[in-house]
Amino acid sequence: MRLDVSSYTIPTDAPESDGTLEWDSTTIVLVQASAGSETGIGYTYGAEVIGTLIESKLAGVVRDRDPLDVQGSWQAMTESLRNNGETGIAYMAVAAVDVALWDLKARLLGLPLAKLLGRYRETVPVYGSGGFTSYSDEQLAEQLSGWVEKGIPRVKMKVGREPDRDPERVRAARSAIGDAAELFVDGNGAYTRKQALALAEQFYADAAVSWFEEPVSSEDLEGLALLRDRVPGPMEVAAGEYGYGIGYFRRMLPNVDVQQADATRCGGITGLLRVDALCAAHETALSGHCAPQIHAHALSACQRTVHLEYFHDHSRIEGMLFDGALSPEGGALRPDESRPGLGIELRQADAERFAA
Ligand SMILES: [Mg+2]
Repeated sequence: MRLDVSSYTIPTDAPESDGTLEWDSTTIVLVQASAGSETGIGYTYGAEVIGTLIESKLAGVVRDRDPLDVQGSWQAMTESLRNNGETGIAYMAVAAVDVALWDLKARLLGLPLAKLLGRYRETVPVYGSGGFTSYSDEQLAEQLSGWVEKGIPRVKMKVGREPDRDPERVRAARSAIGDAAELFVDGNGAYTRKQALALAEQFYADAAVSWFEEPVSSEDLEGLALLRDRVPGPMEVAAGEYGYGIGYFRRMLPNVDVQQADATRCGGITGLLRVDALCAAHETALSGHCAPQIHAHALSACQRTVHLEYFHDHSRIEGMLFDGALSPEGGALRPDESRPGLGIELRQADAERFAA
C-alpha cells in the first residue's frame, strides 16, 4: 500500500470563536491510500505536521501489509508510535490513515463503507452546529433558524466567551428557532463549576436548553459528574471530543450522560468502533463530533449512536473539496448506496488553491 499526503488550509467564511479558542482558518490533512487500482481517502482536521508524521513513520509501517486487514494495520501503527504518545497528533495521524484504509478496503470490495462495516441504522441523525461567540445575535439567529428550516430539529451554539451575555444570546437563539427544535449549548470548558451550574439552571428555565457540552473543562471529570448530577432533569451533559486512546474514554464515560467521540481523533473508524463497544458496555449514548462525511458511514455502524455534530466549518469544507459530499435530509445523513467506500472523491483542482 502506498500513502500520499496533502494538506489544505481553508479560510473561514467569517471570524469564528468559542468559549476558549478563536480561529480564521481550518487545516485538513488528507491521506490517499492506494493498492491495486483503487485509492481510499482519509483525513483529519489538525496541524500540517500530522502529514509529516504519516509520511515519515506510518507510510513505512503499512507499506507491506494486506489492505484488507485494517485492524492489523491499526495495531501496527499505534504500536509504532508508542514513544510519541498514544494521543494528540500521533493518534490523529493514525486516524487519517485508518479512515483511508477503510475507504480503500470498501473500494477494493466494491461496497459502500457503511455496508462493509455493517449497519445498525440506515441514516445518522444530525444537529446543526455553529453559533459562534464571534457572531452577532442576527448572524446567530439566521444560522440556527436556517438549519431548523431545512428540517434539522436540533441545533447547537457556542457559549462561554462572555458569560454575562450568554443568557441573552441563548434567549435570542430560542426565539429564532421556535419552540419545537432542541437547543444545545457548548461551553468548550470555559466556565467554572459554579458558573456552569447557575447558567445551566438559567438556560433551562429561559430557553429549555437540553444539552450542555463541556460545561467545565474536559480535564475536570469530577466537575463533569457534578454537573451531570445537578443540572435540571432533562438536560444532558456531554464531552469527549478531545478523546484519543481508549483509556481516555474509559475514564470519562462514567462522568457524562452522553459520550462524544471523533473518529478523526480517536484513531479512526477502528478507534470509534472500540469507543462504541465501551458505550454499549456502560449503556451510554454516543454522539459523533464533526467530519460529517466520515461519520455518516462510521456512526451508522455504531450501536449506541444518537446523533452527529453537523459542524458549519467541516460541512462547508467537505462540500468544497469532495464530490459526493452528503447533505442532511429530514435531519439525517444517509450514506450513498450507489458509491463505493465513503462515496467521496477529491476535487483536485479546487483543492489546489488551498494547498498548505
Ligand atoms: Mg464541542
